[in-house]
This record gives sequence, C-alpha cells and structure tokens, in this order.
Amino acid sequence: MNQRNYQKELDKVIDGLVKENRVPSLLLHSCCAPCSSYVLEYLSQYFEITILFYNPNIYPPEEYQARVHEEERLIREMHFKHPVHMISGTYDPDVYYKAVKGLEKEPEGGARCEKCFELRLSEAAREAKKGGFDYFTTTLTISPLKSAPTLNTIGERIGEEVGVSYLPSDFKKKNGYKRSVELSEEHGLYRQNYCGCVYSIRS
Ligand code: SF4
Repeated sequence: MNQRNYQKELDKVIDGLVKENRVPSLLLHSCCAPCSSYVLEYLSQYFEITILFYNPNIYPPEEYQARVHEEERLIREMHFKHPVHMISGTYDPDVYYKAVKGLEKEPEGGARCEKCFELRLSEAAREAKKGGFDYFTTTLTISPLKSAPTLNTIGERIGEEVGVSYLPSDFKKKNGYKRSVELSEEHGLYRQNYCGCVYSIRS
C-alpha cells in the first residue's frame, strides 16, 4: 500500500523554495472555484500560479459555464502575494466520453475517475510543458472523495512522460477542505452537489 505523505513532500518542496528565495511558476489544474479557493490562498504565497480550467467531463454545458465564471470571479476577488492568471481550456465533452468509454457504470472513485484524472492531468502537463512552467499539479486532491495516492501516482507518471515536474499534493490535509468551505462562503461561491460528469449526478 502507498504510505507516502504527499503533504509532507509538498512542505519539503516549499521549504527548499523559501530557503532559495525562489518563486517558481506553477500551472494549477482546477476543477472548480470552491476547490481552488484554499489551494490559491495557500500556494500563491510560494508560486506564481496560472490556473488551467480544463474539465471536458462537466455536464451539462450550463454547469460548465457556471463553474468557469465562478473561477474567474474568485481570482478577481481574492488578494494574492504573487499574481494569479487563468487559461480556459477547450470544452469538448466528446473527448471525455471517448476517454471513459466502457466505464460509464463504474462507481465514483473507480476506474472511470482514473481515466478522467488522466485526461485532465495530461492536458495540464502538456500545457505546462508548452508554457515553460516549473511545475504542474491539480486541486483535485482537496476532495475527501478523491484518492491522493491515485492522483499523485498519475500526476508523477504523466509528468515524467511529458518532461515537466509534478508538484505532490494532498490539499485536504492541514484542514484544506474545511478552509475551502469557509472561503466559498466568504465569496458566496456556487457549490455544486455533484462531482461533474453526467454519471455523478445524484437522482
Ligand atoms: S465522478 Fe468526477 S472524477 Fe469521476 S469521472 Fe465523473 S467527473 Fe470525473
């Protein structure tokens, strides 16, 4: 079993940056404004962040637009030590449906989600490589419903394949999830009650 403590690994990276007085660039894949709120508050102290909103898994399109707008509004409203930028990825749901074909009936947290993570992290890694970013990572580890070992294993593998450093994370640690709920309330953010894809909508 994977016993790594990804939060401690992130602490170690950050300690090194502080010692070197270095502020590297980070491409941060974000699934939604509420999840990114704590991550932005935390990591913008140490990195110059560009959010990548790439989520072709989201259904329906109106939900996708609502999440994009909330992400943009949050970035405008929050105050950061280092500048935060945003890139909107292409919204093409067919890419998602192709990636999870045959896994539609899998439960949340299963094989369908692994393909969904791979799809979004691959795009983040490619975008990070293209833009010359020092690191890439995702907000997804903040969710108590998502496995940090699974996400970090996929992120590290894709980072190696693409040739860009993956930043380890387990943002639910250090009360990250709790803080994201507080920040969402503070900014009046829309909080969806399902993960994103059509299969995750509770009836
Ligand atoms: S439940 Fe969430 S992570 Fe899993 S496939 Fe659907 S959108 Fe992706």
